[in-house]
Amino acid sequence: SWTLAATSAAHARDRADHTAVICQDRRTSYGRLHRLSNQAAHALRASGAGRGTRVAWLGRESEYYYTVVLACAKAGAVLVPVNWRLTPKEADHILRDSAAQLLFVDGDFLPVAERVRPTLPALDTVVRIDREGDTDPGAGLRAWWAGAPDTDLDPVTGPDDAVVQIYTSGTTGLPKGAVIPHRSFFTLAPAMRQAGLDWVDWRPDDINLISLPGLGTAGTAWFWNGFNAGLTNVVMRMFVPQEAIRLIRGLGVTTTFAAPAMLRMMLDERDAGPEAFASMRKIYYGGEPISTSLLTRCLEVYGCEFVQIYGSTETATVPVCLPPRDHRAGSPRLRSAGKVCPGTGLKIVGPDDRPLPPGEIGQICIHTPGRMLGYFNRPEATARTLRDGWLYMGDNGYLDEDGYLFVCDRINDTIIVAGQNIYPAEIEKEIAEHPAVAESAVVGLADDHWGEAVHACVVLRPGQRLTPRELMLFLRGRLADYKIPSVFHFVSELERNPAGKILRRIARERLQAAAA
Ligand code: AMP
Repeated sequence: SWTLAATSAAHARDRADHTAVICQDRRTSYGRLHRLSNQAAHALRASGAGRGTRVAWLGRESEYYYTVVLACAKAGAVLVPVNWRLTPKEADHILRDSAAQLLFVDGDFLPVAERVRPTLPALDTVVRIDREGDTDPGAGLRAWWAGAPDTDLDPVTGPDDAVVQIYTSGTTGLPKGAVIPHRSFFTLAPAMRQAGLDWVDWRPDDINLISLPGLGTAGTAWFWNGFNAGLTNVVMRMFVPQEAIRLIRGLGVTTTFAAPAMLRMMLDERDAGPEAFASMRKIYYGGEPISTSLLTRCLEVYGCEFVQIYGSTETATVPVCLPPRDHRAGSPRLRSAGKVCPGTGLKIVGPDDRPLPPGEIGQICIHTPGRMLGYFNRPEATARTLRDGWLYMGDNGYLDEDGYLFVCDRINDTIIVAGQNIYPAEIEKEIAEHPAVAESAVVGLADDHWGEAVHACVVLRPGQRLTPRELMLFLRGRLADYKIPSVFHFVSELERNPAGKILRRIARERLQAAAA
């Protein structure tokens, strides 16, 4: 059946010795992961966790993190990863909102846990994950479940039951907990196979590098889809380009999911010639727009298949992707996010909710069997986002005649100058074409005359120089005049969220504060 508990038991039977996880050079087999998670599940039961109990994890990624997710899956509980890269304020919000009954916490984050504890009435058990002076990152946990049996538990969940609750990145407001069922990690691979497509596939002999945070959306989806296929997942606690290249070379990594910025950072590493990536079979990328020049460089250097993914925390699985065959240098398709996956619905709707014909810009809506169940304890927000099984993505976009999706930008980030819509992503992509530019964030600031004015915060590549006038001249002819930023701010860096996405909201707040 389509549950993580059932897959874990099947792998323990069929491929017990195959490596399930490699983290910090420690290997854990499918057999061991199954036994450890059985013990942890018994311990969870004994401390009162049952169906629907929220269990929070505020710790770094390790084989123990995946052990505890599986233990929750077996006990019927729901794991809430609290990304340790978040600020204490954001972590507080998630802990409070999740109503977690148990909290697993690394020693480093105990002060955060102790500070919020008085405001968490539902919390009754806090377990330290690691232990002072012990190199085993789960020494504390193992002491907690010591003595619990490692026998299989009776199944208590089905494919439609919640297994993890992942908080949205909060690019617009306070993070909301997207409740994800087991089935999210099962639907895509069979649908692809059935349709005879290999756009997105996980093979049992793959070595899959989780380069995005394991506690985030893409890291979670990629880990568990890979787990279901029985492959070996390599988990990084922190993305460092040299370290990623070391792992790819040393372990013979065959697949990975990376944010565009990560692909760029690996390319910029001096020793990253094509031979560094020789083992790579397929690179999935997405989560934010990618410039054509970066993508073209990637196609040259990485020398493997590329698949773009468009999706969100709420879709949980992959709804839209640009297949390898559309990744040809010079192809206009490189600007598209791709085609709808089998078994999935895609439509563009206008403000009146009516579907729009090809070429017209409206809100992107997606219908996928892998979608979230809803936002935890937020019925109104759920009703706004999820209607009749359709997810309203909060993104503007359009379809071409062949059904390819072009994403314009987040609806909330749209800049309106003299009544005309401007999509920051389009401008950022053109700015990225300039060889001196590393990246940029384009935002709208209030303007007495035009309503809003376009401002660009630009980060240059190391050792490069550029004046606002040179950049403006470069953009002439590439963009309509009204889209060209009226002010350029050269900055040393841009704020990102843990998934590596640039936070335009923060860039805008900084400019507003500087202007005040
Ligand atoms: P998150 O829920 O944090 O994963 O964010 C989802 C959002 O990221 C989407 O609604 C889009 O705005 C953006 N996004 C994801 N994939 C792509 C892509 N391939 N191209 C452009 N934007 C993307």
